[in-house]
Amino acid sequence: MSQRIPVGVLGATGRVGETLLHRVANHPWFELTEVGASEQSAGKRVGDLLDTNSLPTEVADLTLRRLDESWESPLLLSALPSGVARDVEADLAGRGHLIVSNASAYRADPGVPLIIPEVNPDHLALLEGQRERWSGGIVTNPNCVVAGVALALAPLHRSFGLTRVAVTTYQAISGAGRPGPAAFDLVDNVLPFIAGEEPKIAAEPRKILGGVTGSSATPAAFPVDATAVRVAVLDGHLTAVSIECEDRPSVEAVTHAFRSFRGEVAELNLPTSPSEPIVVLEQDDRPQPRLDRDRGDGMTVSVGRIREGEAFHISFLALSHNLVRGAAGAALLNAELCRARGLVGDA
Ligand code: NAP
Repeated sequence: MSQRIPVGVLGATGRVGETLLHRVANHPWFELTEVGASEQSAGKRVGDLLDTNSLPTEVADLTLRRLDESWESPLLLSALPSGVARDVEADLAGRGHLIVSNASAYRADPGVPLIIPEVNPDHLALLEGQRERWSGGIVTNPNCVVAGVALALAPLHRSFGLTRVAVTTYQAISGAGRPGPAAFDLVDNVLPFIAGEEPKIAAEPRKILGGVTGSSATPAAFPVDATAVRVAVLDGHLTAVSIECEDRPSVEAVTHAFRSFRGEVAELNLPTSPSEPIVVLEQDDRPQPRLDRDRGDGMTVSVGRIREGEAFHISFLALSHNLVRGAAGAALLNAELCRARGLVGDA
């Protein structure tokens, strides 16, 4: 890479946007030059709104822009609410920018890649078909639960052929964005419904683990049932996963599939790639959010309690950091993949 390419962050004052600022500042390939948020924040400095103790002065001094201003950066990382992202991302993609988005607005669009670099980097081929819609393009990363769960399911689907999956989540508060649920509802409690979450958890793994035909993604066939629950944990989504496969795998075979998985892009040495995408923990009481969410700088998925069952073939627990592997780190890894593939900047 000859020089760092300019990058903008949309929704820079939210939970995901703030995490992105920390990760893009001092990035070896990208230079953070533009930031945007809502009209209420536009015109203020980043340092006026966020705790910038650990950010470089030049990032704290950036002035927040309105989204309808013109943007210079060829690459824009979006951490906008989905309802806002639908129009804004299409508008900016139409003006030639490559948008790498955390929002759900375009994840289900068959012409928009939903990427986990270790799993389906070939789905970037969908960008070619987007030329009919936009002079730039849109690439998305998965829902914060799916980012970890689909990564864990990938080696199992490849080795054993998934036929049915059931997922129950224990999701952290930071997954709800700012300000999040009221303290009065959260403390001493579990909230048994997260609006809009279960359909995404059911659909997105199938798109990621499916294929691409022409200019459309073709989802994998296995059905997914999902139950999504909010718990009083700050960061880190824990998920109980049960799978049925074409042939019943043993615990040893599943453990080996997890441990030997390196992913499709290991040879690219992307700056945000963890050395181990999946780690298997042997202890009965792991993974735990507080102990395991920061593994691999927040990019490693920790799995444990792998066991055989009767209703399903295998059950296990998976844990991933929702703001990193599930959001900011995922977008950054996708942006790095796009740059390594020559889709933005001078690879
Ligand atoms: P958040 O904390 O609510 O932040 C939203 C950001 O968008 C803020 O910067 C906000 O700016 C800006 N914004 C809101 N309304 C706007 C408008 N009308 N015009 C322009 N900017 C506007 O949300 P978040 O949790 O960071 O999530 C951001 C996106 O990532 C969402 O699409 C979410 O679904 C997705 N996501 C979140 C997670 C997670 O774990 N939190 C994980 C994966 C994906 P102001 O501060 O000026 O209001």
